[in-house]
Amino acid sequence: MRKKVLVLGGNFGGVTAALSVKHALDGDVDVTVVSASDRFLFKPSLIWVPFGKRTEDDITFPLAPTFEMHGVEFVHAEAKAIAPIAKRVDTTAGPYDYLVIATGYRNDMAVVPGLEPANGVHTITTLPDAERAGAAWRRFLDGPGPVVIGATQGTGCFGAAYEFLFNTAHQLKKAGLKKRVPLTYVTAEPFLGHFGIGGLPGGERLLQLFCKKEGIQVITGTALREASPGRLLLDDGGKLDFSYAMIIPPFIGQEVVARTSGLSDGNGFVPVRDTYQSTAHPGIYAVGIAAAVTVPWTTAIPVGVPKTGFPTEVQARVAADNIAARIRGEEQARHKDFGEIPAVCVMILADRMLPPRKAGVLVPGPQAHAAKLAFEKYFLWKARNGYVRLP
Ligand SMILES: Cc1cc2nc3c(=O)[nH]c(=O)nc-3n(C[C@H](O)[C@H](O)[C@H](O)COP(=O)(O)OP(=O)(O)OC[C@H]3O[C@@H](n4cnc5c(N)ncnc54)[C@H](O)[C@@H]3O)c2cc1C
Repeated sequence: MRKKVLVLGGNFGGVTAALSVKHALDGDVDVTVVSASDRFLFKPSLIWVPFGKRTEDDITFPLAPTFEMHGVEFVHAEAKAIAPIAKRVDTTAGPYDYLVIATGYRNDMAVVPGLEPANGVHTITTLPDAERAGAAWRRFLDGPGPVVIGATQGTGCFGAAYEFLFNTAHQLKKAGLKKRVPLTYVTAEPFLGHFGIGGLPGGERLLQLFCKKEGIQVITGTALREASPGRLLLDDGGKLDFSYAMIIPPFIGQEVVARTSGLSDGNGFVPVRDTYQSTAHPGIYAVGIAAAVTVPWTTAIPVGVPKTGFPTEVQARVAADNIAARIRGEEQARHKDFGEIPAVCVMILADRMLPPRKAGVLVPGPQAHAAKLAFEKYFLWKARNGYVRLP
């Protein structure tokens, strides 16, 4: 009987895992994807949505035609329960043989009391968040005042905070507000350019120069204690008043994962082996942000590790190849620890996500912006057509 692979999540990890396993077995496997969203979303471009540089149509495409083209069944639904022993998920009829969890994250706004739009604090980590942040930005332009961009204790998505910071500096300049409006970056990172990956050679100095040139005040190694309308309270008792604030929170796993007994860690992420199999259930794999990663260092203020798109795709291919091997009755041959996957991001190039590294470089500036624009177009073309083995 044909084996059944069920994939939860239809974005970077889910699309890559589903199509990779289908292709690896030349179609001789039933693959179903269940996704809460019926569109693929290129999340790296959310940083441009608040400034009107991108709309939903520019950075999404419908999933159903892509899956149909490759013989993958698609169910548009939010999974609410996983039964690992019965090998069932509530949104599909029959049991699965192998399950891939690629459900990504939820924002943990509760990390700082009051971190919410009602207090004027926005984030950009989901499409509705970014659209709300955009509406607030347009209101801000009618009555400008101090701007705070930040990354809280526990977050790992520092790249988004930096990119948004530099975009904000650019937009303030364009609006003729650079001299009138103080811009502050407040971060849990122990130093500028740590990025949750321990920093890169020369990165701190480069970002210091960049922030100085743009007139950005920087506060590092700081936790946020509380937010109230127009004011952020820092852990050391300092205060930051703002007219506009965008803060990146930490991520936690989706409820469906968190509430499945024994499947996840305290943050709702799935502990995995280097095959991307759950340590608790060998028939379950987890990739991308849904997979747990151990933070390899201790900082005065806790920081997370960035789980970016490139490692997500690598993990999804490794999981798919291992599932295909097991279906063929072979040993799992693909092993890749998260830390050894290269760090490839818009501003960062390094041979490994986590130290020790042989090479690493930080490349901020206009060329990074141009490269990201080109990459967005390439990636959406690649994913829409299901060319998931392309880099
Ligand atoms: C603002 C921002 C900027 C970023 N910039 C970059 C960048 O420049 N470069 C880079 O490499 N990475 C970047 N990233 C990170 C990148 O977006 C992630 O690595 C990537 O999205 C992870 O993919 P994923 O498939 O694991 O999770 P996600 O993309 O979060 O996808 C999760 C999927 O699961 C679905 N889902 C959730 N819950 C359920 C459920 N219960 N049942 C069924 N489906 C469910 C969702 O609808 C979604 O389809 C950025 C992220 C953000 C937020």
